[in-house]
Amino acid sequence: MVDCMGVIDLRDNKSISDAMYTSRAFQEKYQYDGKDLGAGCADGKTVFKVWSPFARRVELCLYRDNTSPAWQTKALRREEKGIWQITFHESLHGMYYDYLVEIDGQKVRTADPYAVGCGCNGERSMVVDLRLTNPPGFEEDTAPPAQEEQIIYELHIKDFSYDVQSGVPEKYRGRYKAFTLNDTNGEYPTCMKYLKELGVTHVQLLPFFDYGSVDEAGNDKQFNWGYDPKNYNVPEGSYATDVSDGTVRIRECKEMIQAFHANGIRVVMDVVYNHTYREDSWLQRMVPGYYYRHQKDGSLTDGSACGNDVAAGRAMVDNYIADSVMYWAREYHIDGFRFDLMGLLTVELMNRIQWELDAAFGKGEKLLYGEPWSADSSPMEKGTRPALKENISYLNDGIGMFCDTTRDLIKGDAFIGEEPGAVNGKSGLETLLLKAVVGWREGGAEYCPRSCAQIINYVSAHDNFTLWDKLVLSMSDEPNFLERNEDIITANKLAAFIYFTCQGRLFMQAGEEFGRTKLGEGNSYCSTPELNMLQWHRTVEYAELVDYYKGLIRLRKRQPGLCDKSPSAAERIKEKEVHGEGVVSFLVDNRTVSGKKDCTAADRAEHAGWDELRVIYNVSDRECNVKLGKGQWQILADGETADCCKAAVETEKGICVAAHSGMMLGKV
Ligand code: CA
Repeated sequence: MVDCMGVIDLRDNKSISDAMYTSRAFQEKYQYDGKDLGAGCADGKTVFKVWSPFARRVELCLYRDNTSPAWQTKALRREEKGIWQITFHESLHGMYYDYLVEIDGQKVRTADPYAVGCGCNGERSMVVDLRLTNPPGFEEDTAPPAQEEQIIYELHIKDFSYDVQSGVPEKYRGRYKAFTLNDTNGEYPTCMKYLKELGVTHVQLLPFFDYGSVDEAGNDKQFNWGYDPKNYNVPEGSYATDVSDGTVRIRECKEMIQAFHANGIRVVMDVVYNHTYREDSWLQRMVPGYYYRHQKDGSLTDGSACGNDVAAGRAMVDNYIADSVMYWAREYHIDGFRFDLMGLLTVELMNRIQWELDAAFGKGEKLLYGEPWSADSSPMEKGTRPALKENISYLNDGIGMFCDTTRDLIKGDAFIGEEPGAVNGKSGLETLLLKAVVGWREGGAEYCPRSCAQIINYVSAHDNFTLWDKLVLSMSDEPNFLERNEDIITANKLAAFIYFTCQGRLFMQAGEEFGRTKLGEGNSYCSTPELNMLQWHRTVEYAELVDYYKGLIRLRKRQPGLCDKSPSAAERIKEKEVHGEGVVSFLVDNRTVSGKKDCTAADRAEHAGWDELRVIYNVSDRECNVKLGKGQWQILADGETADCCKAAVETEKGICVAAHSGMMLGKV
């Protein structure tokens, strides 16, 4: 058995270069737009197909399992467009495979970059008849109905149930299966039951395609966020209950998504197409040099700060990424995609992905958004634009970006713990807060979105400090992350109140609503699972904070003036006023889109259907008074409670708003 490893070194081969790969001649001769690459296995037939234009020979090696020597080796036939193919008139479901590719006199072993299944640690690909991996009822699984607002909850699969307090049985703890259990802790809601009660509409899962940094055969103490892709179209194995059979991870991943849907929650996948775990990837072995960006001297670019950048903008790279997204949407019923370092991909590719998703599933049915930045600059392909925030106006309306402007305005610089923002002590931000409310549609940021649908409002994510830790670091002389601190709770509520009353989509890191702490660790990507996990007892200790978030979530979904994603949404925000240091207010035209008063008396009794809202932020240290204007008003949220209905008692000076608090009122 030949078992060559490593990257084919083509540095001496002057004919294979970036210039050649991007030439028109190369594209015309080799661009393949078929959707059948990989190992298609259905109806008693198996077709292996790979793209490797410069291979002199490609051999398929079939294995009976993930470790034994090759059972059969067969040469593939060269076809047009750099395609190699071999067909078997039988189902090879469950068979493992890889390829021996000979290029420029060198031979290399590679798994299939288009594989939909793989063995332990993703070293060998697996032939899978995908229909056989569907859990019962999966063909009928559909996304729950779209809601008025998208409130996205960012979650890591292992974090969710690693804590013993989750109540999840040990064999499922930290795994896909944990999501399939509905009531795991008899004393208080945890896991899926908790999420359902919280009311978020989407869960965004940190990467769960197969990644390389965790040994799937190793122990459970390992942890990684998973931003190191190895097999893009296969679920990660360490979250499965069994890695010895490659179909288990597929079935259990589907069960997880099905469980979310059954509980009314849509699923967003965090995807990392901007770089691979190592340059020595299956893509690189199959077509050396094609999938990566290079400097003029031939060295790899590093805009990702992970050692390599995938060359989005090249035809077959873009096909690979778009086809992968479509695959997850179709096969796994994924409802949205969050692009890691979207700024390394191109505007053209992002727009294409949205068009393809809209065409297949209906306009706006699948959410698309990403990080509109990169770690460093990266040379883009000629004629393409990076999907950075300054290019937001070239992106389709529905493609969103994380808004670090609003994030840092509310709580201070994400990277410098001590640096405060509006809720933790920085003054002079009144005008900017009013600009954040309309998603920077009317200026104030270094970019101008086409609609607030392009803005994702948030104050914490997996990167950088948790909100709790950030507030502790910026508000205490001697930070103590574990001590209960009423000032921190108040600031946390105010931070949430502000972004929950800004137009745009909403996003929160799991546990933000119960004071999640990583003890001041700002980059826990490979810290212990104990430091990263959701500590469920905090949902009880900080129940008041959890209730406040629940209230904000319920309240937000019922306010059309804040949920409006149309390009004219900013016009609904009127009477923007600065009332002095740290105090601002605005009026929201809260009528439904048609403008007609369609709410019934019963709606009003439930304090839904307010035609006008007044929102006040008081980030100052003292209480303030704000005049509400004509009519009778009721308090819908204040610093204590969100989603309430209290009579507003206005004196001659106006309504009194406590220090460090927000207030939302509805006009009766
Ligand atoms: Ca893996």
